Amino acid sequence: MAGTVVVGAGLAAAHVVATLRAQGYDRPVTLVGEEIDRPYERPPLSKGYLQGATPREDVFVHEPGWYADNDVTTRFGTVATAIDRAARTAALADGSVLGYDHLVLATGSSPRTLDVPGAALDGVHTLRRLADSDVLRDELAVRSRLVVVGGGWIGLEVAAAARTAGLHVTVLEYAAQPLVRVLGPQLGELFATLHRDHGVDVRTGVGVEGFEGSDGRVTGVRAGGELVPADVVLVGVGAAPNVGLAVRAGLAADASAGVTVDEHLRTADPVVLAAGDVAHAHNTALGHALRVEHWDNAIRQGTLAARSILGQDAAYDWQPYFYTDQYDLGMEYVGYADSDDRVVVRGELDARELIVFWLRDGHVRAAMNVNVWDVNDQLRALVGRRIAPDRLARQDVPLDEL
Ligand SMILES: Cc1cc2nc3c(=O)[nH]c(=O)nc-3n(C[C@H](O)[C@H](O)[C@H](O)COP(=O)(O)OP(=O)(O)OC[C@H]3O[C@@H](n4cnc5c(N)ncnc54)[C@H](O)[C@@H]3O)c2cc1C
Repeated sequence: MAGTVVVGAGLAAAHVVATLRAQGYDRPVTLVGEEIDRPYERPPLSKGYLQGATPREDVFVHEPGWYADNDVTTRFGTVATAIDRAARTAALADGSVLGYDHLVLATGSSPRTLDVPGAALDGVHTLRRLADSDVLRDELAVRSRLVVVGGGWIGLEVAAAARTAGLHVTVLEYAAQPLVRVLGPQLGELFATLHRDHGVDVRTGVGVEGFEGSDGRVTGVRAGGELVPADVVLVGVGAAPNVGLAVRAGLAADASAGVTVDEHLRTADPVVLAAGDVAHAHNTALGHALRVEHWDNAIRQGTLAARSILGQDAAYDWQPYFYTDQYDLGMEYVGYADSDDRVVVRGELDARELIVFWLRDGHVRAAMNVNVWDVNDQLRALVGRRIAPDRLARQDVPLDEL
């Protein structure tokens, strides 16, 4: 009766343990997390929490007493250092060893950093944890010039928060448009324009060469042959899956692709599973494996990992989903398209109130609603279907009649 050990006490982990208990699992459950906080949601860290609008208590997945009430043993502030698959044990940094019947790797991902001169100067930040958001919020309160390196989701959300707080903000993006790898050039430009309209200096096609500083603190970012003044910097250049434990345990895992799991989230060792940002999982709806760094994925895969442990025949069979909020723009995206897929716009691009479809071979691969609400379930139902582009574009044809 060793039970289940979940390594990494983030969003996916919280949903593993909640689902196990909700569905009657009666063996021991232990949650091991490097962070001292109980599981919390990260999206507010670059949005409402960073802006001071979302109180700290609102970011946690469960009330403090939930874990004890549900007989979940917590080891917060403790790193799992090794897994012995033959003995079915996990070793923790404090010297303790936990036996398991099942082990879930829910170790998430860590921000990538830049290997350029000055990257370690004070004032150069990444954003992943509550404490990072606290530090950044304090910085935004007293600094006046923010440079964001990387026009991805987190970088743009922080840019929006900082502009809203009145800072001068520059975004430096290596590609020709922000978000171009996900959304393609036309929709990438929509986000560039959104930020420019709010007064952000969005520079594209520029690589960062290094950071300049004075007395150990950042004063500027050298990029594209220019020095951009900065008294605080956010580096948002993506995240890498935390695969170290899996690699050391001899499981198939890659430093950028993640831990290889099947559609039930099992590794080649069927009692070791992976879920959330760290998992490179076979998706039966898409017909291939992928790794997804999204809130919805962590919740659903945490639930799925628990169901696999419970012996249910559930699979990773849903379309990916994510969302963002920047200024007065809210958007949701469902599906999985390539950035060179055909784009069909329904609505007003310039007014930033629209639905976008991505098509390949006549089939809808993904859809995104921008400032159009309560339609994402209908859009999800359209993904995978063959629909004529001119009908998709016609606003007089209701979504449920397409
Ligand atoms: C600032 C920010 C904003 C975001 N906004 C959005 C958004 O708007 N929309 C969206 O869809 N997604 C968003 N995301 C992504 C979303 O938050 C992640 O996909 C989600 O948190 C992944 O959950 P996870 O449980 O897989 O990993 P994590 O939440 O990263 O949790 C993993 C935990 O495991 C711990 N850990 C790692 N190794 C060990 C070890 N060896 N021993 C013990 N513990 C370990 C880590 O410290 C961490 O606490 C955002 C992410 C960030 C950082």
